[in-house]
Amino acid sequence: MTDQSKDTKAQTKAQKINGVRGMNDLLPADAAQWAHLDHVLRDLVRAYGYEFLRTPIVEATAVFQRGIGEVTDIVEKEMYSFEDRLNGEQLTLRPEGTAALVRSVIENNLLYEGPKRLWYTGPMFRHERPQRGRYRQFHQFGIEALGFAGPDIDAEIILMGQRLWDELGLKGVRLEINSLGQAHERAEHRAALVTYFEQNQSQLDDDSQRRLISNPLRILDSKNPEMQTLIEGAPKLLDFLGAESLAHFNAVQALLKANNIPCKINPRLVRGLDYYNLTVFEWVTDELGAQGTIAGGGRYDPLIERMGGKPAPACGWAMGMERVLELMKVSGSLPEMQSQCDIFVLHQGGVTLVAAMIIAERLRSAGIDAILFCSPDGQSASFKSQMKKADASGAAFAVIIGPDELAKNEAQIKDLRSSGEQKAIPLDGVLEAVIEALVGASE
Ligand code: ATP
Ligand code: MG
Repeated sequence: MTDQSKDTKAQTKAQKINGVRGMNDLLPADAAQWAHLDHVLRDLVRAYGYEFLRTPIVEATAVFQRGIGEVTDIVEKEMYSFEDRLNGEQLTLRPEGTAALVRSVIENNLLYEGPKRLWYTGPMFRHERPQRGRYRQFHQFGIEALGFAGPDIDAEIILMGQRLWDELGLKGVRLEINSLGQAHERAEHRAALVTYFEQNQSQLDDDSQRRLISNPLRILDSKNPEMQTLIEGAPKLLDFLGAESLAHFNAVQALLKANNIPCKINPRLVRGLDYYNLTVFEWVTDELGAQGTIAGGGRYDPLIERMGGKPAPACGWAMGMERVLELMKVSGSLPEMQSQCDIFVLHQGGVTLVAAMIIAERLRSAGIDAILFCSPDGQSASFKSQMKKADASGAAFAVIIGPDELAKNEAQIKDLRSSGEQKAIPLDGVLEAVIEALVGASE
């Protein structure tokens, strides 16, 4: 190669393009684990009578500004918002599921027949600093029970969480719960909080100084270690709840107790979103470091009206799929995932390929998973190298069609897992022989 042609080659080699920071590919090696979690979640929602609702990934920015609240981490600094180049609309990649679901429920008048239990799943987008358990595209599973006012549904949605951890084999997921009361109770508490923080203003960090004016309750949410003692001493919202709010809170706790669900009251649990009232809760673990909250939710009675719908109470929760899978990994509760393939079909190209392809299709029509050997370079490959691929595929049996077999109207079937036994079978009886072999192997 001349120097000149080397240069041209270097120039034309395409630059590698990487994925966006904090947004991950799901690789084949992890796909079966996601499918497993998905499967367990689908069983869970079916068991409690929830119906699926899917909203688009993009919504008008106003959906989240109104539905999450302006003074929240999400709306203040985490949203991927942009202007549609063609018509100037203000749009946002959804950062969570509830606001969009409520938008859809109102728009499609889904509550006209009465309450509804709904669930959703899919990617969410938040511009956060990527780290373990915190990504810019992540996935949530969530449920929303709309039109139910009583403590029974609060308790039921919490039971769903406990059932989920049990089904997934996760131990040590703790429930923390609190009550945010109603707006007028929070207003009284807020006044007391403001007085308290004003008296200690020199100890507030910049974020909290700002929140003192905009949303003092959120100061309690601060993760700054230097603020913790001050926060510990702040007036507690629970002390400001009236009889009705307390009765609701007590009823939820009694129902949890009757179902043997231990919970810890955490008076500092205020949740990130603005629209919650009464019951709020989080499921936490110590095994994931700083990102220890795997799911959270609560009651949000004011939201539907605030989004322009007919007033209706509601509650729900959302779970981070990546965090749950990570927890399953560290706690060793991820099941061994085996390859699903039953049969690997080998041939020697030409007419044997034609016969092999027809047989593979016949097997698939009968519900049997079959991988047909396809050569990487378009040339036929030795049976020895094909057999290596067959072994690596995890298939239980190989079906072999060479020129000698084809001449006799036969194929060979070989046990790849236990005996290694190989025998001839008639070509038009491959399906029966394969079924017999698979049934025999599973006994
Ligand atoms: P955090 O306090 O960890 O930021 P959050 O209060 O913002 O969580 P929610 O809005 O309640 O989280 O979302 C519900 C769940 O979604 C969380 O409990 C978590 O499991 C998951 N989650 C939230 N943000 C992320 C993210 N950036 N990456 C991965 N999972 C996330
Ligand atoms: Mg957050």
